[in-house]
Amino acid sequence: MNHARKKLMSGFTLIELMIVVAIIGILAAVAIPKFADLINKSREGSTKANLASVRSALRIYYGDTEGIYPGDNLACLTANAKYLGEIPAARVPSYHAATSKVCTGMYAAGGCVTGLGAPSMWDDHLGALWIYWETDTPPMMGTLRQKGDFWIGCTHLDSKGAGWSTF
Ligand SMILES: [Zn+2]
Repeated sequence: MNHARKKLMSGFTLIELMIVVAIIGILAAVAIPKFADLINKSREGSTKANLASVRSALRIYYGDTEGIYPGDNLACLTANAKYLGEIPAARVPSYHAATSKVCTGMYAAGGCVTGLGAPSMWDDHLGALWIYWETDTPPMMGTLRQKGDFWIGCTHLDSKGAGWSTF
């Protein structure tokens, strides 16, 4: 057996194997955070789409009733699944757990306190991220909200740097 053939048969050296393992490690270190980022971005997208679907259900309700917004915690939208099958989930990845709870301006039974309105005061308020403003009185402080407004009660930033309560 000549020298070149002997080298071909001998397989990988330890150094070569170590280099391959190192390269696989580098690729994984690059790919895994990107993958986690994609999952978070899809959750963000679904929360924004869910926000839009509840808002459009509210508009349809408003049209049906000729100018009246729901006066409850949106239970009348989901009654008999007339306007919405159910209140969808709000997910603000890496800050809050998914929840479909709705906080309202005056609805004490929902655990939210009358008159609070600054979005920073609502952030993850007793596990609720959705906020529905069902009263004529505007919030005492913070962003001016009106009856019928529905928003995400979180002042954290999304992956593009926009505050959740601004959507
Ligand atoms: Zn938040």
